[in-house]
Amino acid sequence: MSEGKSRFESGEEVVVMKFGGTSLEDADAIRRAVAIVQSRLHSQPVVVVSALARVTDQLLDAGAAAAKGRLGAALDLVRSIYVRHEQLADELVLGARRPLLDRELRREFQALESLLHSVEMSSCFDLRAQDHLLGFGERLSSQLVASALYECGTHAAHVEAGACIVTDARYGQASPLWEATHQRLQDALVPLLGRKQVPVLGGFIAATEDGTPTTLGRGGSDFTAAIVGAALNAARIEIWTDVDGIMTADPKLCSEAQVIRKMSFDEAAELAHFGAKVLHPATLSPARRENIPVHVLNSLRPEGEGTEIGVRARNSAAVTAITVKRQVAAVEIALLRAINSEVLSAVYAAFDEHGCSIDVMGTSLSRLSLIVGSTVALPKIAADLAGIAEVRWQNHKALVCLVGENLRSQPEVASRVFAAVSHLEVRVVCQGASERTISFLVDESKAEESVRRLHEMFFPRQKDPVNDWGGISTAFCQAG
Ligand code: ADP
Ligand code: ASP
Ligand code: MG
Repeated sequence: MSEGKSRFESGEEVVVMKFGGTSLEDADAIRRAVAIVQSRLHSQPVVVVSALARVTDQLLDAGAAAAKGRLGAALDLVRSIYVRHEQLADELVLGARRPLLDRELRREFQALESLLHSVEMSSCFDLRAQDHLLGFGERLSSQLVASALYECGTHAAHVEAGACIVTDARYGQASPLWEATHQRLQDALVPLLGRKQVPVLGGFIAATEDGTPTTLGRGGSDFTAAIVGAALNAARIEIWTDVDGIMTADPKLCSEAQVIRKMSFDEAAELAHFGAKVLHPATLSPARRENIPVHVLNSLRPEGEGTEIGVRARNSAAVTAITVKRQVAAVEIALLRAINSEVLSAVYAAFDEHGCSIDVMGTSLSRLSLIVGSTVALPKIAADLAGIAEVRWQNHKALVCLVGENLRSQPEVASRVFAAVSHLEVRVVCQGASERTISFLVDESKAEESVRRLHEMFFPRQKDPVNDWGGISTAFCQAG
């Protein structure tokens, strides 16, 4: 922590509290969120909110409709969003704050409608326009939640996140410019905290230095919470969501999933990277850098302990959690000459140039096997690499991943995994370089079954785990 970033001049500890869309679904949910914030007033809460549940997807649909010339359908969609916010205001904000809230909501909706008109006129809904449009979800929800808090007697102050979080211009998934962001967050928030106000910011939204709207990528409000926490040297970051914490598997896939009480920053980061939607993958890096514990908690059961993410995992299990990343593609790159650093850097450069991030990579003498999250850029990458390599890919794959701090000390886990899923036509099995992960590729249709089988094996209901796993004992990475 550099000098000047005090835990507030008042000496009190800041807690950043992020509420996801699922925790802001309706008036009851917002009342619950308000009560949770009020239970933290002995600290100095800073509140970060997502858009209300489903709003970001609706905005995306509206933009796509407008770009295809269906302006009427697009406007109907955003009007239904407007009505939903006004109805919530009718239930939650009836006092002195209401005229101001109405003015803000109307102003945002006028801007939203005029943006849809220009999308229709230009037929262009590129990532830049998309970021601008999607940001309205958080702009609206943050106004509503700030007013709801105020109505309940909390001295809340709405803060324009786009004016504080400064990013590069990688639309769709922008990265923060840390120095400018820290400075602006401190300038905006410290005076409010000094006056005992509760700042409320929209998550996910940001802007470039010249003020063009950007976003931090889908699910990015978690990342906003961590950015704010790091800038304020918060005592803790709380991610309030719709599950009891980070679990041994997605409870929607595996009903036997159990809450993990404690896990390390590294484990949680791997889990998020490999598809566990409960946290945006970038969330842990600022928290780890400033050593701020992150708590994942259930807004439906605020008394629960949730998951605490910190420096050390206090967990003796071989596997901490199992996750799955869907809709990935397996890319095979057949090199026209033997692999060397020049060829590798050309391959990396092509993927980087087209913004295609690589999740897993395996190499052999003349072949690279990659797993990527999107095929959109692959035709262009293949064209760029013509003369160096032939690029082929297959869609409809899922990457199943086991994560655990203890995997590195228990290499036999890899062979147990192999035994559990070998009949499922597993394509690439790889122990990650961090040795904290073992991942493999299956057809999407087999993803759920893989997770359940592995969960049964590593988190059995009875005490004694299955033990006849065939005796293969080395960790392995088989690619191509
Ligand atoms: P929010 O709206 O609060 O941001 P998200 O839908 O983004 O909520 O994330 C919460 C969801 O993440 C859960 O409902 C759950 O289905 C999913 N999830 C995936 N993997 C896990 C996991 N390992 N532990 C807990 N939840 C998980
Ligand atoms: N509202 C955004 C999304 O749905 C960001 C978030 O929820 O974190 O992706
Ligand atoms: Mg989320």
